Amino acid sequence: MRDQDVLIVGAGAAGLSLAHRLCLPRRGARSPRVTLVDAPPGGLRPPERTWCYWEPPGGEFDEALATSWEWLRVRGADGEAVVGRPAGLRYKMLRSGAFGAFVERRLDGRPGFHRVTAAVDTVTDVPGGAEVRGADAAGEPVVLRARWAFDSRPPRPLPPARTTLVQHFRGWFLRTGRPRFDPAVADLMDFRTPQPPRGLSFGYVLPLGTREALVEYTEFSPAVLGDEAYDRALDHYARQVLGLGEWEVLSVEQGVIPMTDGRFPRRPGAAVFRVGTAGGATRPSTGYTFAAVQRQARAVADAWHRGRPPVPPRPYPARSRAMDAVLLRALATGRVDGAAFFTGLFREVPTERLLRFLDGRTGVGEDVAIGLRTPVPAMLRTVAELPWLRRRPSPPTGPG
Ligand SMILES: Cc1cc2nc3c(=O)[nH]c(=O)nc-3n(C[C@H](O)[C@H](O)[C@H](O)COP(=O)(O)OP(=O)(O)OC[C@H]3O[C@@H](n4cnc5c(N)ncnc54)[C@H](O)[C@@H]3O)c2cc1C
Repeated sequence: MRDQDVLIVGAGAAGLSLAHRLCLPRRGARSPRVTLVDAPPGGLRPPERTWCYWEPPGGEFDEALATSWEWLRVRGADGEAVVGRPAGLRYKMLRSGAFGAFVERRLDGRPGFHRVTAAVDTVTDVPGGAEVRGADAAGEPVVLRARWAFDSRPPRPLPPARTTLVQHFRGWFLRTGRPRFDPAVADLMDFRTPQPPRGLSFGYVLPLGTREALVEYTEFSPAVLGDEAYDRALDHYARQVLGLGEWEVLSVEQGVIPMTDGRFPRRPGAAVFRVGTAGGATRPSTGYTFAAVQRQARAVADAWHRGRPPVPPRPYPARSRAMDAVLLRALATGRVDGAAFFTGLFREVPTERLLRFLDGRTGVGEDVAIGLRTPVPAMLRTVAELPWLRRRPSPPTGPG
């Protein structure tokens, strides 16, 4: 039963990061025996995606990065730009395929590390540990057991919440006929897009050279769009707003990220934990997840090596989650103008502090100072309303 120490379900950002962290050799310590279970190619396995995060230069995944930027820009609806250079940090782009290959180079062939391909149905407690049940690509049953199991399958449905929005987007990796981009600057939010009736929209531009970039159209709103609507919005942004002229689309990236104040249980069983988006690692107000996944993976590995139950820590402090609940509600009710809100924050708060805030690493005083830079009456009204709202099953987020 217990020849395995750890089962990890899902080889996405969280599963790969956790496997990598647990299996990194430590002097004088035994690495756990880890089995990483991922779905067979097909509907359950997500297509290649792009993860961006910020950290100092010289990070451990730097050799796998597609690129990184020193300068970050946010543009208001009027086109006025706020440009920041977060001291000591870089905004980094890692493609999921490159990250998978990086982890494979480090782990495959290492004694004690195994991979299994199976569509997992259940991850449950059994006496003395955890059990994973599913089926392999041929439909044959797969049963695995270990002392601990970490489940990163996407959470469906989302947990009951007071507010549920989605961050949804489509992006084109494109090549323009002429040089159009400044490879030193990433455009995080460009609000020169037509705003939807509820929530907000913006363009996101990540240059890979003077003629190549990932150009995305993103909304924070109650429901995703249909294919045509994304293409129309992207074409408008690329043509009318950015004035890119001629371009060729090299590949397409699309996604939906939950933005919810629902509670994601991190320990659904005595020996079963949830990690990644399923474990609440997605920051409700921004959708950023990758950095929190790294913090969780480090803490789990440290706990295992110290002989403690490897419970994933809370990805964000309670104060950050409370502030996000207020912001989500204020956006969903239309009480704050999202474009003005985010542009104002970038204008008023030093970029480095804002990025630390988004990681949940600012102190109380800094959080209060940031709170005072927001539309205070609308936010206070929302604070007063929240305790009276019930958490409801999350609404469908299909095309609205
Ligand atoms: C297109 C896109 C771009 C994003 N960009 C960013 C970004 O720039 N920065 C950032 O911080 N966050 C970003 N996010 C949010 C977040 O980082 C990603 O969603 C991230 O992939 C979440 O990691 P995860 O491990 O929780 O889930 P996933 O990476 O989705 O991994 C889930 C894994 O579970 C497996 N699986 C699913 N069902 C089963 C099953 N039944 N049996 C076995 N395996 C199963 C899948 O094959 C997959 O490997 C992005 C999200 C998307 C969708």
